[in-house]
Amino acid sequence: MYHTFTIAIPEPYREALGQRLIGLGSLGVEERDDAIIGYFPEAIDQELISNELELLRILFQSLVDPVAMTVKHSFLQRSDWNESWKKGFKPVDAGTRFTILPPWERPSRERIPLIIDPGMAFGTGHHETTRSCLVLMERYVGAVTADRFLDLGTGTGILAMAARALGFRSVVGVDTDPLAIEASRRNSALNNAEGIELIEGGIDQCEGNFGMIAANLISGTLVELSGQIASRLAPEGIVIMSGILKGQDDEVVAAAVKSGLKCRERLNDGKWVSLACRR
Ligand code: SAH
Repeated sequence: MYHTFTIAIPEPYREALGQRLIGLGSLGVEERDDAIIGYFPEAIDQELISNELELLRILFQSLVDPVAMTVKHSFLQRSDWNESWKKGFKPVDAGTRFTILPPWERPSRERIPLIIDPGMAFGTGHHETTRSCLVLMERYVGAVTADRFLDLGTGTGILAMAARALGFRSVVGVDTDPLAIEASRRNSALNNAEGIELIEGGIDQCEGNFGMIAANLISGTLVELSGQIASRLAPEGIVIMSGILKGQDDEVVAAAVKSGLKCRERLNDGKWVSLACRR
């Protein structure tokens, strides 16, 4: 069973609200009709989220130009979630080498298949940020020397599996959400991807240094973790940071530079920015 919060609000505010929902612990958000829907695990404090959203609603209403926002809560069975995912989940190419597809589609011969059974985790390749991470991973894999890869916030495990396919010998996927770890385990098996270590928790739970780190999180978390991320990069190591909304990238770059990193590239895709930074 999952909680869903369906929030009707005009378009310009949906993206930011989606980020807020993820910040509150949403496992995934979806835009549908005039609303944004946040899916939460059963164990959340429903009242806490309702209160937070009520505060936002009052805030929006009290603006000089009031913005209408309505919130509806409901429960969703796991099977319903999967069914709605299935309908929208078609194969999608990413970078020059990958194609991402659900288990019920047949892989193409030309590209490396990443088979994803989404479950409740984020990372089906339909999001710009995931695809940008794959593009930057491909672009910088040749530039790093150490052959360990950390996928910080692994979701479905998609970037961890891509890292194996790109030749990283040792790959660690970490996620604070136990459902993401469960989904990653299932997906690794579906892809016969061996050599991926999955850890429930944060970056402090991972040992050693990495030649490449991918962190597709949100700006606030990236700023918060940039020191820890930098300290886990091997010499010449590259970190790919994604999940950054346009306009928030300067803040993340500033934090990265403060942590001793150099920004090599900013990649834009729609409203999203991804960074490649070097130690
Ligand atoms: N890497 C995947 C999924 C990104 S979604 C992709 O690129 O598509 C972000 C994931 O990070 C979520 O699964 C969320 O549970 C996890 N997460 C959020 N904050 C985290 C933190 N501080 N440490 C580890 N994982 C975190």
